[in-house]
Amino acid sequence: MAKHELLRLLHQKHPVHAKDVAEQWDVTESGARASLHHLRRDGLVRQVWVLTDQGKARLAHFDAESCASPECALCRTEKQEEMLEWLFGH
Ligand SMILES: [Zn+2]
Repeated sequence: MAKHELLRLLHQKHPVHAKDVAEQWDVTESGARASLHHLRRDGLVRQVWVLTDQGKARLAHFDAESCASPECALCRTEKQEEMLEWLFGH
């Protein structure tokens, strides 16, 4: 695959996975990954962070059960909010 073709794909579809590139040009997934890393080294693409299926499952778990982290604004209860307000006021 030419760099031009790869750039075109990245422009049209994002995020692109190595698997997509491998399927499109019938190359191995590790070959596709190497091409993508090459573009990144040249500063032409950047990597994005996306949730894996495992990450989505963890999020669902945290949403349902709360994550038990005291600094998590998503899990703060109203009582804790009141306490913080009382402590720090504003
Ligand atoms: Zn949380």
